[in-house]
Amino acid sequence: MSIDIAALAARVRDGTVRARDLAEEALARAEAARSLNALVTLDADGARGAADAIDAAPARAGALAGIPLVHKDLFSTRGLRTTASSRMLADYVPPFDATVVERLAAAGAVTIGKASLDEFAMGSSNETADTGPVRNPWDPTCVPGGSSGGSAALVAAGVVPVATGTDTGGSVRQPAAFCGITGLKPTYGRVSRFGMIAFASSLDQAGVLARSAADCAHALAAIAGHDPRDPTSHPCPVDDYVAALGDGVAGRRIGVVREWFGDGVDPAVAAQVRVALERLEAAGAKLIDVALPTLDHAIPAYYVIAPAEASSNLARYDGVRYGHRAADPADLADLYTRTRAEGFGAEVKRRILLGTFVLSSGYYDAYYRQAQRVRRLIADDFARAFADVDLLAGPTAPTVAFRIGEKTSDPLAMYAADVNTVAVNLAGLPAISVPAGFVDGLPVGLQLAAPAFAEGRLLAAAAALEQRSDWHRARPEGFR
Ligand code: GLN
Repeated sequence: MSIDIAALAARVRDGTVRARDLAEEALARAEAARSLNALVTLDADGARGAADAIDAAPARAGALAGIPLVHKDLFSTRGLRTTASSRMLADYVPPFDATVVERLAAAGAVTIGKASLDEFAMGSSNETADTGPVRNPWDPTCVPGGSSGGSAALVAAGVVPVATGTDTGGSVRQPAAFCGITGLKPTYGRVSRFGMIAFASSLDQAGVLARSAADCAHALAAIAGHDPRDPTSHPCPVDDYVAALGDGVAGRRIGVVREWFGDGVDPAVAAQVRVALERLEAAGAKLIDVALPTLDHAIPAYYVIAPAEASSNLARYDGVRYGHRAADPADLADLYTRTRAEGFGAEVKRRILLGTFVLSSGYYDAYYRQAQRVRRLIADDFARAFADVDLLAGPTAPTVAFRIGEKTSDPLAMYAADVNTVAVNLAGLPAISVPAGFVDGLPVGLQLAAPAFAEGRLLAAAAALEQRSDWHRARPEGFR
């Protein structure tokens, strides 16, 4: 799969490649990659049916004709189980497609299955999925990152060239970094959230994971744009992301964010990210040191706001309308309590407790309102920085992939994995994680952030780095 997905789709459309063959190849690779535990549901029949429909009239198929993909199991898929990797939704079959799912299908992409995630997308390691931890193809004793860990592992293992993910505080970028692939989190509002199971609605955004900037551009082009079914989706016109790939970085001012190289960032990761930044400098970018002091408060603000919104969003799982229902309830209170006690895992419960606490009267001003103020200051800090630079850069994650089980008993250590990603969500900005080399044989990601709706600029920089490196071409042993 060395050609990009658009070129492959063109071969499907002109009849030289059959969508069915691509689907069979992806299904076989999914089988070979079973030990990663990255797929919640394999939809072989659905994939074959969709592929055959394309092969019946290939010339009429869209820009992604026959491209196999997986959706994070947080996107509703009509007639196909959508679990959020939670016991709560273990048997939930949505009666409709998420807009992202609908648009990719309309472009001709073929869904082969649903990818594992941290339960309800709350996590950084994909260890809280009710189906068990997902393994990193680079080292099966390590986590793939999270929460879109199944998506990242399946792309890195070459099962599919592209996958969807969601990013509330880093869940596309951090697993992309841990798995050595490219992950793009668009501007809040650029992609519809309709049909995406809600975690923290003011932060959630759909994104894409792939093995190159070009593939991300093609996938983003398919899903971006206004959707009347999502009132927060933005009506501004969608840029030509594919054309932007050729823009390069000559003359671009890249702010190297001091706080993103701060305490807790592994010096070897920081050094490797600087190597990648030097490649961008060699491609004509100008590196400028910048400080965004409010970023030091991003983690505490995020871990107030995200759980607050989660506690509200997850109130709907009450055993009446959706999902799991406790057996033989004594009364309504017993139904609610036992349904939620049985249906949610420990991390989800922790978030609900945190969220209801920070929203409770008496604590609201001290925590929730304060966190919203910090959020505003962070957004202002970014705006100030972007008055002087075109992009901001740093390591996506403070470390390379850690071992399965290493942080499961220490929630604060787990939350620290998001130290460099959450601020971007608080400000609603787009950001990308690009392969930037290796430390101890495990992938490192370079994070680039841009002003709102400048996704094209991110893709251009990612493509420029690919031209001066081969990190994005490296494949894990056993998945070549
Ligand atoms: N790891 C972060 C959290 O646990 C971000 C998750 C996400 O982006 N969905 O909240």
